[in-house]
Amino acid sequence: MTTINDHFLKLKAGYLFPEIGRRVNAFTDSHPDAKVIKLGIGDVTEPLPEAIREALHRAVDEMGDRDSFRGYGPEQGYSFLREAIAENDYTSRGCDVSADEIFVSDGSKCDTGNILDIFGTDNTVAVQDPVYPVYVDTNVMCGRTGQADDQGRYAGLTYLPCTAENNFTPEVPDHPVDLIYLCYPNNPTGAVATKETLKKWVDFARSNGSIILFDAAYEAFIQDESLPRSIYEIDGARECAIEFRSFSKNAGFTGTRCAFTIVPKTLTGKKSDGSSHSLHALWNRRHCTKFNGVPYIIQRGAEAAYSDAGQQQIKELVQFYLTNAKILSEGLSSIGISVFGGENAPYIWLKTPDNMKSWEFFDHLLDQAHLVGTPGSGFGASGEGYFRLSAFNSRANVKEAVNRIKTLMG
Ligand SMILES: *Cc1c(COP(=O)(O)O)cnc(C)c1O
Repeated sequence: MTTINDHFLKLKAGYLFPEIGRRVNAFTDSHPDAKVIKLGIGDVTEPLPEAIREALHRAVDEMGDRDSFRGYGPEQGYSFLREAIAENDYTSRGCDVSADEIFVSDGSKCDTGNILDIFGTDNTVAVQDPVYPVYVDTNVMCGRTGQADDQGRYAGLTYLPCTAENNFTPEVPDHPVDLIYLCYPNNPTGAVATKETLKKWVDFARSNGSIILFDAAYEAFIQDESLPRSIYEIDGARECAIEFRSFSKNAGFTGTRCAFTIVPKTLTGKKSDGSSHSLHALWNRRHCTKFNGVPYIIQRGAEAAYSDAGQQQIKELVQFYLTNAKILSEGLSSIGISVFGGENAPYIWLKTPDNMKSWEFFDHLLDQAHLVGTPGSGFGASGEGYFRLSAFNSRANVKEAVNRIKTLMG
């Protein structure tokens, strides 16, 4: 009989968002009139910017004309988009990234998971704790961990606790690790990394021969000009880092789907005979074998994100969410709740009042204020006692949410 990949069975069954959904449904079933406001899942709410919509329409029309119709495109992405990315996101910021080091894809979630195809299963892995669950679960699936303990920590992974005590910025580990996931600005904590912080990681990775998997999905939310937007702003990063970016959170592409991954040609990994091999060549092979490219129409939409009008409209979109974050953050602070993040990220990370457990606070907010957030413990053991609120919502809902929290706890 056909066997299965047993590693899947190690995954914690009560996955975070289904459990939230279950509790919200149970509540709305018994309170059909309650107006529940969801500040839970990190999905955008505002429509696509006009410059992007116009580019999408034009591309649809091109596809409807025999002379400009396109079939399969290059798996790595059309050069018009790769060139626009290289110029606007990298060269203009002094980063040495060329168009042919950019792989356009249908999402950073997929890329952060798929990248594991090119690494040996014997690599050791470090993750921030709390963490975007995709990094952990994809490593579990391919057998790079043992079983999970009661707190959800998998044997074999190195967890880097991020708490208020270390300003949600962990030190480098005291032992070598092969693959290191870093996410800045961070989901879920909203923490950011300075150049000095990233430099420590780059130095650590280079002295240990590690690879940093740097998730910069929230780069557009950085307001502080002194903060790095890309890991390639750090000297030596081309020798040790892969960067993931997405149009999901800046340009509202969560349902439209377009992202990209940078694999510098200078990156290498070790073969079993001890010699080194290009990671760019391996990822190119993997990408072309298992992926047939992002739709032409969508790539034209993404390209428009770099036009003058597109840049302006994206800026406004980001500012809209950051103003929501500010309203949440100031409202909660004003009643004595400790809040973190929200300044360079669309997430507010708060310390639960009265030392409530994360899920206890979740139930309290849902029952008493009809608000849904995300329990910090769902992102990792070190998230216990914390709670995430997302700024992705309408202004009216955000204001109403703050009023309800003030009424409940003020
Ligand atoms: C939203 C998000 C992404 C982007 O995922 P897509 O698949 O591109 O929509 C990547 N990383 C993190 C941490 C995210 O929160």
